[in-house]
Amino acid sequence: MLRCEYLLLLVLFVILAGVILTGCASRSGVGSQAGAPAAVADWAIAIHGGAGTLDRSAPAAEQQEHLDALRAALTAGRDRLARGDAALDVCEAVVRMLEDDPHFNAGKGAVFNEKGQHELDASIMDGSTLACGAVAGVRTVKNPVSLARLVMTKTPHVLLAGDGAEEFATAMGVERVPNEWFDTEARRRAWERWRREQGGTAHQPRRVRDGYGTVGCVARDRQGRLAAATSTGGLTGKKWGRVGDTPVLGAGNWADGFAAVSGTGTGEEFIRHAVARTVAARMQFAGESLAAAVDAVVFHTLRKDDGGVIAVDRAGNLSAAYNSEGMYRGLADSNGRFEVRMFEK
Ligand code: ASP
Repeated sequence: MLRCEYLLLLVLFVILAGVILTGCASRSGVGSQAGAPAAVADWAIAIHGGAGTLDRSAPAAEQQEHLDALRAALTAGRDRLARGDAALDVCEAVVRMLEDDPHFNAGKGAVFNEKGQHELDASIMDGSTLACGAVAGVRTVKNPVSLARLVMTKTPHVLLAGDGAEEFATAMGVERVPNEWFDTEARRRAWERWRREQGGTAHQPRRVRDGYGTVGCVARDRQGRLAAATSTGGLTGKKWGRVGDTPVLGAGNWADGFAAVSGTGTGEEFIRHAVARTVAARMQFAGESLAAAVDAVVFHTLRKDDGGVIAVDRAGNLSAAYNSEGMYRGLADSNGRFEVRMFEK
């Protein structure tokens, strides 16, 4: 009789243990769907150097110079991520490199506004904490993306603009340059062309080819953290004081736990449709893949020739899409992918 009771207890114990173990397993099963998906890449990075309409008369050598500069920036970013550096640090460093390169419309090489001056916008965002910072309309800050990072880390704010941002730059001791330092011959010619085309008609910023050049970087690091950074001089002939999408978090730049996104194109449209955040939101609320969310926004929300985005998700998938003639871009990941392109091929 006693043995019988022991046996019964043993059977009960086995059943109970089974129920507990199955419960745990199914909970972690649900968790892995709602939480981080299995990584397809240990780390991944995408960069862009602007999107726009091609001027067929542009010399091939000039395009090659842009691609070489992108390749150098992508190589630097790839090496740092492979070493285990944080996505946020990598995004800032890569965007700084592109700001310093006169081929791009960010930092040195920024376009001219209607008054023939440069006003620079930039932002940066850490997807693992939603910490973010941005600057708009800065005129003497050599690397606006790093000032944006200081807004993020040294102030309780998210966006500083104009004179206040300049004063903050002074307080932070970041490198300054006179506004003319950002001049390049190519951007001046584009501005002069824009002025001729104006001919007293309604104000219209120019987006033909010289629209190329905004820079951005998105990354997933070995710890699975996402980050995004974007920097621009805006649009040739833009109104004095005009602020585009680049420093507007959620429009031209965004990172959260789902995706990191950087955009380039007609800033007003990117703001209107909260483009960068919408990519991540479609993944979060509609369960779309990164590629589906990017395509929906670029091909069905934005208008033709508005521009494009680069994006990475928390599993390390990369995406780049544009609805203009081309977009300078580079993609690399821990599986050996490394490509730099302007058009499809
Ligand atoms: N999105 C930038 C702006 O509107 C320009 C560009 O990406 O070409 O300021």
